[in-house]
Amino acid sequence: MREVKFLDLKAQYPLIKDEILYSFSDIIDSTCFISGKYVSSFEKAFANYCDVEYCVVVNNGTSALYLALLALGIGHDDEVILPVNTFIATAEAISMVGAKPVFVDIDENTYNLDTSLLAKKINKNTKAIIPVHLHGQCAEMDDVLRIANANNLLVLEDSCQAHGASYKGKKAGSMSVCGAFSFYPGKNLGTWGEGGAVVTNNIALAEKMKLIRDHGSRKKYHHEIIGTNLRMNELQAAVLNTKIRYLDQWNSLRRKNAELYMYLLKDCKNIVLPHTEIYNEHVWHLFVIRVPNRDLFMDYMKKNLISCAIHYPFPLHLTEAYSELGHIEGDFPLAERLSKEIVSLPMYPELTEEDIEHVSGLILNFFK
Ligand SMILES: *Cc1c(COP(=O)(O)O)cnc(C)c1O
Repeated sequence: MREVKFLDLKAQYPLIKDEILYSFSDIIDSTCFISGKYVSSFEKAFANYCDVEYCVVVNNGTSALYLALLALGIGHDDEVILPVNTFIATAEAISMVGAKPVFVDIDENTYNLDTSLLAKKINKNTKAIIPVHLHGQCAEMDDVLRIANANNLLVLEDSCQAHGASYKGKKAGSMSVCGAFSFYPGKNLGTWGEGGAVVTNNIALAEKMKLIRDHGSRKKYHHEIIGTNLRMNELQAAVLNTKIRYLDQWNSLRRKNAELYMYLLKDCKNIVLPHTEIYNEHVWHLFVIRVPNRDLFMDYMKKNLISCAIHYPFPLHLTEAYSELGHIEGDFPLAERLSKEIVSLPMYPELTEEDIEHVSGLILNFFK
């Protein structure tokens, strides 16, 4: 039986492994493991890639969100609005600076935050909105920015799933005060460990983030403010320096794969396929469909050696961690309903046509 993995990171090794191992050996020989040339060259390359002036790399995506909120001065008694269907890190970063996460339900088509519900969530304590560009498709940024401007709120884009995505020609992470990225290995651009970054056009913000990232100091032992250690190491920056050159190519392979799934599954009445707005350049971090009888569907796929996943099985208001906010079932009806129907199909650049035909054939067969 043909096996199809959800993600196969080894499939990209032939293109990149030798070059990365060469960089690793360069770093090991130099013993410069922190804040060296690989970090600074990746910061330039990624800022350039995102169409912004500055990039500050950190040790993971959660830190990127946390650092951005901290540097923006968000803290106790502040409220920050975010979609209820996202990875928990978006909310955790808000909690970690002492602010309160305020959830908003999602849009049925794009699964991104429903901007028509934003106004109701804004009060005198609201300081910021974090739209999440979920699955690789940007949130409805014109609406988010219009509402934010009208209410004097900051906007921080959680772009952790959207490296290279764009909205009306503008790159994810470049449309607001700053954008946070994760380089977790399975992201469209990933390290061989952990990594993250914040991109911005605001020089004061970039400088402040650099200070906080490195114990509040520009010069060793000269601590201007109380910071912490959120640095990325050189080995991870070396991986990113090599991989960023392939990111557009990998994203277009993901797009091609998504188009093939869409074509092969278009007549299947039982499922809901992903919806893309015409002005959105989707980078397909995930290919998410909706199915009835999901447990049966997942069992069937598993028996046929197809690995699928669920992103995410529980909306954040129903997690134990956020029980303190006092939400109950029914508070976010759309996110709750969709969380029981969504399935992420195998998706990565090197997935073959035969893999996609095989997976799609099994899906059609299941619903016959
Ligand atoms: C991956 C991810 C994060 C966190 O990134 P880490 O590098 O795992 O800390 C935050 N938000 C979203 C939407 C993500 O997908």
